[in-house]
Amino acid sequence: MRAHEAGALHADLGSNGPSWLRTPDDVNTLVPILWPRTVTRGQSGALTVGGVDVTQIAQQHGTPAYIFDEADFRARCKAFKEAFGGAEVYYAGKAFIATAIVKILVEEGLSLDVCTGGELAVALRGGMPPERIGLHGNNKSVEELATAVEHNVGRIIVDSLDEIDRLTQIAIRTGKRPKVMVRVTVGVEAHTHEFIATAHEDQKFGFSLAGGAAAEAIDKILADGVLDLRGLHSHIGSQIFDASGFEVAARRLLTLQARVSEVHGRELPEMDLGGGFGIAYTTQDEPADPRDLAGDLLRIVKQECAALHLSVPHLSVEPGRAIVGPAMFTLYEVGTVKDVDGIRTYVSVDGGMSDNIRTALYDAAYSATVAGRASSEPPILARVVGKHCESGDIVVKDEFLPADVKAGDLLAVPGTGAYCRSMASNYNHVPRPPVVAVVDGESRVIVRRETVDDLLRLDVG
Ligand SMILES: *Cc1c(COP(=O)(O)O)cnc(C)c1O
Repeated sequence: MRAHEAGALHADLGSNGPSWLRTPDDVNTLVPILWPRTVTRGQSGALTVGGVDVTQIAQQHGTPAYIFDEADFRARCKAFKEAFGGAEVYYAGKAFIATAIVKILVEEGLSLDVCTGGELAVALRGGMPPERIGLHGNNKSVEELATAVEHNVGRIIVDSLDEIDRLTQIAIRTGKRPKVMVRVTVGVEAHTHEFIATAHEDQKFGFSLAGGAAAEAIDKILADGVLDLRGLHSHIGSQIFDASGFEVAARRLLTLQARVSEVHGRELPEMDLGGGFGIAYTTQDEPADPRDLAGDLLRIVKQECAALHLSVPHLSVEPGRAIVGPAMFTLYEVGTVKDVDGIRTYVSVDGGMSDNIRTALYDAAYSATVAGRASSEPPILARVVGKHCESGDIVVKDEFLPADVKAGDLLAVPGTGAYCRSMASNYNHVPRPPVVAVVDGESRVIVRRETVDDLLRLDVG
């Protein structure tokens, strides 16, 4: 599903919202699964996070702002780490990365995936030990590869024969033996509750299993003997709620693993099943507990290994969204409220598609609440839109807000920790919002607000 390029003009005008959207009994009620765990509606009616009132945060830091609940983030890191026991948990940095995040990951004992030189720079600046960094990407530059090798990054997930050649040359030149994993496209594409398993996979990432490219890459690496091949890698999709797609992926990877044992007489010691674990954006989503997911994945791998007479490889997973997504919400201020022809109420906020592109890009659903006060008015169906010159500039397509929602209200949109700040743009020369971390009654800026001066500085005339 994709939003039409013409945006809202082509949407289902006149409907009462999607069928899953429930009219709330009380428009002030927070649905706990959508919010960072320290968020509550305080006595004044305003939300508090980490013990701090959002009206105070808005006064101090301005809006729009991404509000990061540090305790929630740490709890999710711990939950994954504990659930996966001996397996390695690589946080997927592309979901959201900043040096403050890297420091927390280091403290919580997680590892970190990056996929560009820029993300690698943040990882190193944040103090992640290089052996705990994985470098992904389907078109890593020579410079990115050389930097990774120079810093002894723990593993490079190779994605093409060109890259294997480049990396081999760098290894020979530097006398190093980089650890690599081979990214395999296993023909499984998973979203939410369904997955598609096909023989072939038509996408830019990795080496195809069916076409024999994966076996060829492995044979080449082992024949050259320059790179240290640690294992196979697969990543099957995003916003996945159950383990069935992973089961097919693991079976296919392990079948290839068995071939490697047969042909080369050696077992690869590691295996990575990627990320993609889903979160709740609205009440229609029911994400799995990391413990259940981990239990399923570990059981599946053990069973398949037993069936193929392989020893169980050291496993790793790469959750991004599931750790940082629910740990943040975006705090906006309402600027205008428009009742359009009695069809729908449009609530405009001071940000939009530049701070959350997911609604326009993926037709993603979000939820929202008036954050600065409680209301005793009945709920009305509203659409939260941004300030950009584009009718597809929608933040929350359908949500019930109190009938008295008005200019000056604070509005909070939960579930914006992943792929919002990291995908933010300067469309319309709107400076990107800050990330404000809140914990134990204190707020601090971890990524500052961009200014018009920042933007003008790049414009050298
Ligand atoms: C994007 C990505 C992830 C993280 O996906 P989430 O949906 O955020 O968990 C993990 N591994 C790879 C290789 C990715 O490309």
